[in-house]
Amino acid sequence: SSIFAAVEMAPRDPILGLNESFNADTRTTKVNLGVGVYFDDNGKIPLLGAVRAAEKTRLEAAPPRGYQPIEGTPAYNQGVQKLIFGADSALLADGRVVTAQALGGTGALKIGADYLKQLLPNATVYISDPSWENHRALFEAAGFPVATYPYYDAATRGVDFAAMKACLATLTPGSIVLLHACCHNPTGADLDAAQWAEVIAAIRERNLVAFIDMAYQGFADGITEDKVALDLFAASGLQFFVSSSFSKSFSLYGERVGALSIVTATRDESARVLSQLKRVIRTNYSNPPTHGGAIVASVLASTELRQQWEDELAGMRLRIRAMRTGLVDKLAARGVAQDFSFVVRQRGMFSYTGLSAAQVERLKAEYGIYAVSTGRICLAALNTKNIDYVADAIAAVL
Ligand code: PMP
Repeated sequence: SSIFAAVEMAPRDPILGLNESFNADTRTTKVNLGVGVYFDDNGKIPLLGAVRAAEKTRLEAAPPRGYQPIEGTPAYNQGVQKLIFGADSALLADGRVVTAQALGGTGALKIGADYLKQLLPNATVYISDPSWENHRALFEAAGFPVATYPYYDAATRGVDFAAMKACLATLTPGSIVLLHACCHNPTGADLDAAQWAEVIAAIRERNLVAFIDMAYQGFADGITEDKVALDLFAASGLQFFVSSSFSKSFSLYGERVGALSIVTATRDESARVLSQLKRVIRTNYSNPPTHGGAIVASVLASTELRQQWEDELAGMRLRIRAMRTGLVDKLAARGVAQDFSFVVRQRGMFSYTGLSAAQVERLKAEYGIYAVSTGRICLAALNTKNIDYVADAIAAVL
């Protein structure tokens, strides 16, 4: 009989499954608030002008498509390092950062997880409760037990920082703690600088290993503002891991552009760590693709394109913010008594609205509005054409 005869159907990815249902929905008024993608006011995924300009130059230059180095090109990796640590970073001057291009933020998490499994084979990984669904699956697939630390407080719609801190203080030394640099997915609730300093103190105290996931740099307050956690970690003298994604900030989802950066204690450690990381990459996919990385590298290296990109990123950030304010105002205008002002305080693409699974189901069944059953909505899918419809629907199901 077939070797596949007894294979069971795996559960559908909850968010990608939502997309499939959305696509099958024939209602013209349907709205997909499920997926974490930025859409412009016309409901389209933008191709940024800075990206388009860099692509034009690259197409005209028609470079050959040889293999890249296992860790990607120096131009890309250095561009990423300057973006996340700052051009004048002491870490960079001291050779304490190892960076490898990766297949999006997910790929960066994956090579980081595989490398950590070699480095700390008996560690447990702690993720926030709740976190991006793929964090758990990814670290479990790398062979780690995954547990959670308290994070979201439904009562305040913010972070239960006391509980988070108390938990960190109990962790076994050598545990890995996954942190969201900014724009926490799914809750939109972030730590402030003072809280980051306390997290770093706890990590130092307990000898924990921080893995910082930065998938939304520039979507909260700005490129520089959003790396406050990294700045504090950089100044701490600790070793840590950072995954970055350019899927959202460059609107390059399908090109799979990201990077893993590992901060070591010395230049010599960096050389040895890089050699091990290259081995992980070599046995996963050998070396990264050329196009997306080349585009990001040339935008970051050009004064003009970099400015254009920053302006375009600011445009995305401000449009999401306008949708946050708009939704809150429109709900109030519809006589909704419940206070939704927290939606304006939450940062990044998402809001944990507090809508129940039953309310989310009604939004889908009665209005063709798709949200995650946890009540997470993506504000970047709202626009001036659908926001009134969405506000009507939410007001009706509350
Ligand atoms: N981390 C978080 C917190 C995310 O939200 C995402 C994307 N949704 C990723 C990582 C992965 O990003 P990428 O699409 O670049 O793999």
